[in-house]
Amino acid sequence: MSNTENKIPYKIYLSENEIPKQWYNLRADMKNKPAPLLNPGTGKPLTAEEMSGIFCEELVAQELDDTTPYIDIPQEIRDFYKMYRPAPLVRAYCLEKALDTPAKIYYKFEGNNTSGSHKLNSAIAQAYYAKKQGLKGVTTETGAGQWGTALSMACAYLGLDLKVYMVKVSYEQKPFRREVMRTYGADVTPSPSTTTEVGRKILAEHPGTTGSLGCAISEAVEVATTNEGYRYVLGSVLNQVLLHQSVIGLETKAALDKYGVEPDMIIGCAGGGSNLGGLIAPFMGEKLRGEKDYRIIAVEPASCPSFTRGKFAYDFCDTGMICPLAKMYTLGSGFIPSANHAGGLRFHGMSSTLSQLYDDGLMEAVAVEQTEVFEAAEKFARIEGILPAPESSHAIKVAMDEALKCKETGEEKTIVFGLTGTGYFDMVAYEKFNDGKMTDYIPTDEELEESFKHLPKVPGQE
Ligand SMILES: *Cc1c(COP(=O)(O)O)cnc(C)c1O
Repeated sequence: MSNTENKIPYKIYLSENEIPKQWYNLRADMKNKPAPLLNPGTGKPLTAEEMSGIFCEELVAQELDDTTPYIDIPQEIRDFYKMYRPAPLVRAYCLEKALDTPAKIYYKFEGNNTSGSHKLNSAIAQAYYAKKQGLKGVTTETGAGQWGTALSMACAYLGLDLKVYMVKVSYEQKPFRREVMRTYGADVTPSPSTTTEVGRKILAEHPGTTGSLGCAISEAVEVATTNEGYRYVLGSVLNQVLLHQSVIGLETKAALDKYGVEPDMIIGCAGGGSNLGGLIAPFMGEKLRGEKDYRIIAVEPASCPSFTRGKFAYDFCDTGMICPLAKMYTLGSGFIPSANHAGGLRFHGMSSTLSQLYDDGLMEAVAVEQTEVFEAAEKFARIEGILPAPESSHAIKVAMDEALKCKETGEEKTIVFGLTGTGYFDMVAYEKFNDGKMTDYIPTDEELEESFKHLPKVPGQE
């Protein structure tokens, strides 16, 4: 590669017609398919009919489709994508130089839109299918606020009503996110709230709780299923979300292919797994088909370590235990990560698709601590100019670590990582870091064991 090396620009842009015309459904190439969602009442796989009470019809079809490798992206969605895509793939020349590493580092930057993250890729798709079905609106939860913001933009664009349940700690810490959502017309409620039955129950059991994604999901689902013309949409974890996010990986691959670059490792942060699932999709596809091999690394916070310390088991996706059961790496649906954790990687479980791939040894996972993540974020901001989201900074940290290992060994590895968003709305977290007041609470084994005791009893699961 060395003679083409200096021809690679800082930013590899694709043209508008190179925005993918189809999403890639990784499950089609998996030998061991992700386990189906189960009805918590019967313990049987959820049927399309049962699902369509909660989710939009077309999204149910996508959720259940384990066999179609490519699914057309409707023209209306591609038109919306054109407002902020293709996203640039950046060659991190400055970072390579600062780290004095022979590694070649690239990052796919998904923060170039008002919502500031990759979540818009799925938000517009989900809103589109809701609109197409003739619904009045959708409900959802949001943690750090990125998903709610993205969805509020998509709903405003299509003229859909949106009710957002926002994890209380974020509602209070991130007033600016809340106001962006309201500016785009969303109705935002801090969760747990007294507006739902499940919210009142959670408040009675845990007075003063700062909330969790799991609680907010329960509330949003309740509102969707008890209001006519509404369905629930989710910003991560589900197969359909990974499908929509495959635009990230497809564009990344197209950009690398232009210059004949093949990555050695692909790194991404993992909350519910959607950005990582999307980024790795076409690469993992090649790996599954036996065409290529890549190291794929999921990075998660040490305070919410689903992959590295969780159990691979059927569990509820929500705290209120009203949602379907998903087989995933989970810390238990009652696990509430420490409130002082700054990033938005606070979900107790992980995408079933990624969980299966991880269990099959097709990808790795590492957990990193918050303070070292912010050290990496600060360094990256100063060197590459972009103020990264705390979530994204988990991937930055591990990409830097891998690049430094290359420095020791002299290996010229090619590293690609996902820079999922910007950190403009995370200044409370940066303030804590800048003031030297950042802490990290890492759960003890005893705490996790206690949480695992509440995993639901499912036939075939010990
Ligand atoms: C939501 C979010 C994540 C984590 O979610 P995934 O579904 O795991 O991708 C990562 N980065 C940013 C900026 C986010 O907003």
